[in-house]
Amino acid sequence: MVSYKELGLVNTKEMFAKAIKGGYAIPAFNFNNMEQLQAIIKAAAETKSPVILQVSKGARNYANQTLLRYMAQGAVEYAKELGWEKPQICLHLDHGDSFELCKSCVDFGFSSVMIDASSLPYEENIALTKKVVDYAHQYDVTVEAELGVLAGVEDEVSSAVSHYTKPEEVVDFATRTGCDSLAISIGTSHGAYKFTPEQCTRDPKTGRLVPPPLAFDVLDAIMEQLPGFPIVLHGSSSVPQEYVDMINQYGGKLPDAVGIPEEQLRKAAKSAVCKINIDSDSRLAFTAAVRKVFAEKPGEFDPRKYCGPARDLMEELYKHKIINVLGSDGKA
Ligand SMILES: [Zn+2]
Repeated sequence: MVSYKELGLVNTKEMFAKAIKGGYAIPAFNFNNMEQLQAIIKAAAETKSPVILQVSKGARNYANQTLLRYMAQGAVEYAKELGWEKPQICLHLDHGDSFELCKSCVDFGFSSVMIDASSLPYEENIALTKKVVDYAHQYDVTVEAELGVLAGVEDEVSSAVSHYTKPEEVVDFATRTGCDSLAISIGTSHGAYKFTPEQCTRDPKTGRLVPPPLAFDVLDAIMEQLPGFPIVLHGSSSVPQEYVDMINQYGGKLPDAVGIPEEQLRKAAKSAVCKINIDSDSRLAFTAAVRKVFAEKPGEFDPRKYCGPARDLMEELYKHKIINVLGSDGKA
């Protein structure tokens, strides 16, 4: 048993309480490799933003759960070296799908876990979430749960259609499970293709797809039921068109990739939404930078020469999100 406290990590309790009060949201960035982690920590340290490092099922399969945990431990020390005296870094399990997995993360030094039982019938979702909460809370580890179903594909989490969270269920769910935060479905979606062209309109000037707006009425109804309760948005990448264009310009093929407009995320961040998950955007930045190097310098074969620019572009992206979208800069 390793407590996250020994590793210098923090859980989400205080982060979320401050974020709701202050009208901003904490960035939750997924990481799978060293360059991504370096970029996240540098961006957070330089902007003094609290940050949540997320480990998904795909990341565990790709990079190994044990290695990722030690990398997060290293990230705390790296942050201190960068001059961040008291780093506010949370290590979070993204989309945990069983009690055993959540328990293993709690036992191994994660400071927060998500149990995603949203695909189960309501009563089963409650039972499994409560079981995880009862265990995690013994060690002061915070638990995120999910109600409602997001569309899209994220690693091994996928669904063809979304079902909005039902506001009339949230009080019963939060009370009976004791969860610390709730991921809801209001129209965000996993992946880089969040909406089909049929769901969108087209901007006549640019020819780009304009996605349907998020269901802010559902969010408002949920906040009315659970005043001041931490709400989480998954699938909240914006799929920046500059990266999509760069990828396509340098030999890639991402037709009609579309995300959540930053304007809408900015609005959400000011509400009880206090954690916003961003993964696809950094994948796009990484890919765009690598493709550019490969196209311009075909003779390059030193991975540092293309992973380096990828890391720089991701860092720029993370800072932009922190400062211009979530408003979490200067809060840690
Ligand atoms: Zn998710």
